[in-house]
Amino acid sequence: MADETSGFDVDLFVIGGGSGGVRAARIAAGYGARVCLAEEYRVGGTCVIRGCVPKKLMVYAGRFADEFEDAAGFGWSLEPPRFDWATLKRNRDAEVTRLEGIYATNLMRAGVDVVADRAVIEDAHTVRLVRSGERVRARVILIAVGAHPVKEPPIPGAELAITSNEVFELERQPERILVVGGGYIAVEFAGVFAALGSRTTLLHRGDKLLRGFDDEIRVALGEAYAKRMDLRLSSTVHRLDRRDGAILATLNDGSELLVDQVLAATGRRPNVAGLGLERVGIALDAAGAIPVDRFSQSAVPSIYAVGDVTNRAALTPVAIREGHAFADTVFGGRPWAVDHDLIPTAVFSTPEIGVVGHNEDVARAIHGEVDVYEARFRPMKATLSGRDERVLMKLVVARASDKVVGVHVLGHDAGEIIQAVGIAVTMGATKADFDRTIAVHPTAGEELVTMR
Ligand code: NDP
Repeated sequence: MADETSGFDVDLFVIGGGSGGVRAARIAAGYGARVCLAEEYRVGGTCVIRGCVPKKLMVYAGRFADEFEDAAGFGWSLEPPRFDWATLKRNRDAEVTRLEGIYATNLMRAGVDVVADRAVIEDAHTVRLVRSGERVRARVILIAVGAHPVKEPPIPGAELAITSNEVFELERQPERILVVGGGYIAVEFAGVFAALGSRTTLLHRGDKLLRGFDDEIRVALGEAYAKRMDLRLSSTVHRLDRRDGAILATLNDGSELLVDQVLAATGRRPNVAGLGLERVGIALDAAGAIPVDRFSQSAVPSIYAVGDVTNRAALTPVAIREGHAFADTVFGGRPWAVDHDLIPTAVFSTPEIGVVGHNEDVARAIHGEVDVYEARFRPMKATLSGRDERVLMKLVVARASDKVVGVHVLGHDAGEIIQAVGIAVTMGATKADFDRTIAVHPTAGEELVTMR
């Protein structure tokens, strides 16, 4: 029922209960705003329910394979280890449900009214709940609906492939799997399946994995992956057919591959279909995303958007930051904008990748002359077992300012390392600052402060 004084039922209506929406709702409610949040699926969004969290648990599961191999070099003898998919799935699903509950409880404690329904926009201040038919008038509407995986290109038989949404529902571990794509999701899942013992083919149209990352990291990851799985670069799938209870993939060169599952990891697109954006005059950008200004405000002043639906940087911590900045700005009287320039990120491939700042080419284009420092070595933990793994660390330094403008790590715990180094780079650390930092010995990370 409308508040007589404002004419609005709520101050903020958040569409979408993922990372960005939940943070915005909680912070806004903390400022005393009356907040309603609609989520049609499960509170927590992609990251918690079918993204970062369950994926990382699967990455951990796979990493034991290397641990077992290394352990032998340290004198441990193990029965041949066996892996049980059902146990992993059960425990992983339970953890996701636990986290979902925490998200819902936190929203409730913050005083946010959570509605399990799909919301669509009727006008600049009105949303309609699809199932209940109820209309809610809001002073501000925040769109935080995320994105969904897409299967590209639309080949015959594409319906036989699953995406990263369905991968978490698999009741059985595929004996043979074809992963298509060369981005974050493809390399992470190919790494998981290969480590868990599935015969894994990773197939990518480009000549290197992970476009946009530093070329040397891309090459080194390709080398590492070629040892762990069947890696096919510069290759595409022509069609998929059912064959004897399995899936036959025909490739562009005419060769065939018989597998139990095909995982299409060929990108994600904003969830804008049927949202009612055209009714309020919000036009999408070329990527199908909602254009917003630095304060996440759309072309309609009362409507804001954060997270993957805006396609600025499709990463959970970025969505959280955008949601927080939005709430501080609009409800807290403390305007601030997220800096999208320096975003530390990790790819949970095995070996892992951690990056902050620019790759060598981009650094050169922005800063002119750069100096590059590199270290390649076998990680200490793999020395006794002789396991064939290499670590690559690379610093890109702007020559004129001596600032470290790119740090690239491939190797165990790269994500953990890059989180800490990210602080220094965000603060504008120079190579001289790195050099005067005393090494922690013996670690892999010490290489970052001992490169000359
Ligand atoms: P990406 O955009 O990272 O990768 C998509 C991949 O699909 C690319 O290799 C691309 O090739 C390929 N591709 C696209 N279109 C076609 C086509 N028509 N035919 C063949 N191949 C095609 O998307 P993801 O789905 O991997 O992930 C989406 C986003 O989610 C990431 O970019 C990241 O922001 C986020 N994410 C982050 C994670 C993390 O932080 N660890 C983990 C997972 C996801 P090409 O390079 O040639 O264009």
